[in-house]
Amino acid sequence: MLPAAQFAMAAADLHHRTPEFRALYQRVLGQLRTFVGSQNDVVLLTSSGTGAMEAAVANLTSPGDRVLVLTAGKFGERWTGLAMAFGCQPDVVSAPYGQTLSLETVRAALRSDTRVVLMQATETSTGVRHDVQAVAELLRSTGSDALLVVDAITGLGTTHLDMDAWGVDVLIGGSQKAVMIPPGLAYLAVSERAWKRMETTKNPRYYFDLRKERKVASKGESAYTPGVALIAALGAALDYIAAQADGDLAKGRALLVENAETCAAMMRAAVPALGMRLFAPDVPASAVTAVMPPEGVDSGVIVKELKSRFGTIVANGQGEMKGHLFRVAHLGFFDPLDTLAVIGALEQVTASSLPVSKFELGDALAAAQRVFADRSRIVDKSVSAPSPTPASTEPVAVGR
Ligand SMILES: *Cc1c(COP(=O)(O)O)cnc(C)c1O
Repeated sequence: MLPAAQFAMAAADLHHRTPEFRALYQRVLGQLRTFVGSQNDVVLLTSSGTGAMEAAVANLTSPGDRVLVLTAGKFGERWTGLAMAFGCQPDVVSAPYGQTLSLETVRAALRSDTRVVLMQATETSTGVRHDVQAVAELLRSTGSDALLVVDAITGLGTTHLDMDAWGVDVLIGGSQKAVMIPPGLAYLAVSERAWKRMETTKNPRYYFDLRKERKVASKGESAYTPGVALIAALGAALDYIAAQADGDLAKGRALLVENAETCAAMMRAAVPALGMRLFAPDVPASAVTAVMPPEGVDSGVIVKELKSRFGTIVANGQGEMKGHLFRVAHLGFFDPLDTLAVIGALEQVTASSLPVSKFELGDALAAAQRVFADRSRIVDKSVSAPSPTPASTEPVAVGR
């Protein structure tokens, strides 16, 4: 976690119905809008990311609505579960784990009565990036009046997203991923079209009533007791991101994305030299890289050994992918030197414990170093990566 955010949390000793909190809340909501990169109003919820996903479904649908779920992993499947819990009829377009959706299949599944399309920007369980812009364009070109809802919980801050220009209706973010603070906050940027839809939709909502939150937010309030300390942490994190670009938060976000892309490219270059394979070689996300261990090796062995020998945290596969892959995070506070450290640790584990022939210590590191050097050369020196961060000994784990 970002040290500045940790300090902000410790110091956040304020009541939420005070002028001090109102000032903080309004400031953070304004910063979030810049961070998301949209003119739309942003609603902040004290909940995990799934709460914001639920809020989107509860507020934008009525029982019996046809919704289109685009899924290629565990988080996509969550949309189907949510749609069914709220009595919608989900049409599901899926792609195998490790791949993205074919646009033709999406086009074929889109119906004239599709009310909402639900997707991820990046599927964290498989390390895949979906083409949000292409789906948005498809909806526009077919004249569909379906709303496009995008779970960008690991997309924001790791990949370029332009909600307003592309015509995304709801963009969802969370606190524990690229903004480097603990779990417990989620936010949604909501288009005017989507606000309008909420006037007629009939599904029940109470805590997650977005219109209620929007109304009170304009006065610097939240409807219920908010996670005050987390909101202070979020403000500090967004300040930190802005400070990477002399106070320009939008530019700071671009640097954060650039940083994740560099780390991810380094990781991808290192993987073959470890005798391993990428799980999503064709459409890799920059948020996480999913790696398949050498033939016959349980990925849990690698996860455990990294943790016990080096204090390095990588995530195992989720659900049935457990044992078959592990995921290395590139979000937020991770920088290229952290990535080299992870690769170095992986080399040690490979050398000591894995049945890989033709493996040389240093090959994976060298491949990653070359990518780092190349990308530093292309990008102006001052914007190649966030300014030096204190060595993070405990990288945040990603996913669950
Ligand atoms: C982490 C994550 C979520 C949110 O999960 P919570 O555990 O509810 O915070 C949702 N979607 C994606 C793609 C994620 O990576």
